[in-house]
Formats: sequence, C-alpha cells, structure tokens
Amino acid sequence: MSLRAGASLGAPQKEPAFWVPVSIHGRDDGREVRYPHFAWDRAKPGLIAVNRAGERFVNEASSYHEFVRAMPRPAAPEGSRTAFLICDSKFMRKWGLGLARPAGWPRRHLLRSGYLVKGDTLEGLARSIGVDAGGLVRTVERMNRFASSGNDDDFGKGASAYNRHLGDPLHSPNPCVGELRRAPFFAVQVHPGDIGTTIGVQTDIHARAVNHTGEPIAGLYAVGNDMHSIMAGEYPGPGITLGPAVTFGWIAARHLATAPV
Ligand SMILES: Cc1cc2nc3c(=O)[nH]c(=O)nc-3n(C[C@H](O)[C@H](O)[C@H](O)COP(=O)(O)OP(=O)(O)OC[C@H]3O[C@@H](n4cnc5c(N)ncnc54)[C@H](O)[C@@H]3O)c2cc1C
Repeated sequence: MSLRAGASLGAPQKEPAFWVPVSIHGRDDGREVRYPHFAWDRAKPGLIAVNRAGERFVNEASSYHEFVRAMPRPAAPEGSRTAFLICDSKFMRKWGLGLARPAGWPRRHLLRSGYLVKGDTLEGLARSIGVDAGGLVRTVERMNRFASSGNDDDFGKGASAYNRHLGDPLHSPNPCVGELRRAPFFAVQVHPGDIGTTIGVQTDIHARAVNHTGEPIAGLYAVGNDMHSIMAGEYPGPGITLGPAVTFGWIAARHLATAPV
C-alpha cells in the first residue's frame, strides 16, 4: 500500500531480518510450538551446537542474530539451514534444553514427537539425528578439554561479558564452558527464525515515508517493522527493534499533532 502511495523501500541491508534460532515441536493435536532460543540454554556450560559433520560452527553464547548468521548454509539452494544443540543429562537436569524443562518436568511428549532426541551414547545420538558420529565424539572430547582449561580455543565461548552474563556464575573456570560426559545425551534441532525485518519503507527524521527522491509523502508515516531499520542489518543488542519502534512512533505522533489539518 505504501509503495502504491509513492513510498520507496530502503536498500538491502547486511541481513534482511533479525534472526533467532528456533526449535519446532509438533503437538499431538497437530499444532506447532516454536521455541526461540534467545538467552536461556545456549550460553550455559555443557551445551554445544554442531552441524551435520558433528563440528561446532559458532560461539554458542553469541547473540541469536550472530548464531543464525553462522549456521551452515545448505549445499542445495532449496535446502534449509539447520543445526543441533547437544547436551548431557547433567546439563538437562540443571538447565533443560529448549522446550524441555529442567529435572522434574515431563518431557516424554517431546521425545515422542521427535523434538527432543535421546541417546545412551554420543554415537547413538549422532546416528539418530543424522550427524557424523566420529565428528561429534571428537568435538565433545575437544570441548571437554576446553572445560578444564576454561578457554574455548575455537570460538571463544565465555570470552565476552555478554557471554558470561548469560552463563552460570557458579561454574568455573569459564561460566559458559562445561563438560558433556554423563549419559544419556540429548539433542534438539534448530532452524533460522526471525524476530523482525530490517528492510522497509524509507523515512525522514519525522518518520514520514519518502519517495525515491527523498520527498516526504503527506500523511504517510512508517515505524517498527515497516520502517527501514536504522541498524543496517546488524544486531548490537536486545531492544534495537522495539527501541526505535517506540521512539519513532513518538516522533511520528508529535509530528502528526503539529501538522496542518
Ligand atoms: C519472540 C519475539 C521476541 C522479541 N523480543 C524482543 C525484545 O526483547 N526486544 C525488542 O526490542 N524486540 C523484540 N522483538 C521484536 C519486536 O517484537 C518487533 O520488532 C515489534 O513487535 C515490531 O512491531 P510492529 O508494530 O512494527 O509490528 P507487529 O508487532 O508485528 O505489529 C503488526 C500488527 O499489524 C497487524 N496486521 C498485519 N497485517 C494486517 C492487515 N492487513 N490489517 C490489519 N492489521 C494487520 C498484525 O496482526 C500485528 O498486530 C521480539 C520479537 C519476537 C517475535
């Protein structure tokens, strides 16, 4: 509608959306539950994210936007990006994984639907989820060594204040890096999801939509997802979607209130 009124879209940004890894549980009644892995499980010690080769590809404690950006790209164009979050039973008891809550909460329905996959060994778990078993075992052994030293030499999990804030303050030497040793082991598959779009209607400092020469279109404003994001496709931190949305909403309302009728 805004384009028909003469508005122009902003240029492509580094990313078309603000991303978050999402796991999907198919309920018995046919409905889907989608769980965004924002901040709870990924940064905790004893969780790794792997690709189909069983290799880590990212600092699991980085922001959800960066996590998805690092997710492996499919070989075929029609394929989708996918990854697996893996933990052991000690982690599961303490933190839970996605929709699977910590100890005491029922999780049989999640195992039945295939949302949560359990394996008595790492090799068995890898086979169940279609991940290279040797690769996963090597990755876990390497991560277990990092847990003793406290240094994730591969991706720096726990190196930043942002990582550590989301880790386990009672776990040392690195609040974000722990061992995966105690069977059974668990996996949840994650897919790219989004929390909003970055590309939208071009606006001026009053949040007025502008045409392709930058002239404002009388009476047409855009904020929130509809407004071309001022973040250039980057995700410096939580709030960079709602913050500008309410700010420019306020600016637009002030401008409207003073506009000639
Ligand atoms: C799970 C999740 C967590 C998030 N957490 C945060 C956070 O912590 N901090 C943060 O800053 N941002 C967060 N975001 C992003 C933030 O919620 C969005 O940026 C924001 O809601 C966008 O606001 P909006 O008004 O532009 O769009 P929306 O909130 O999507 O509102 C658009 C509205 O228009 C309605 N609509 C659509 N089409 C029509 C139509 N044809 N006719 C009439 N109505 C229509 C829709 O039903 C909807 O109500 C999160 C997003 C998600 C999904």
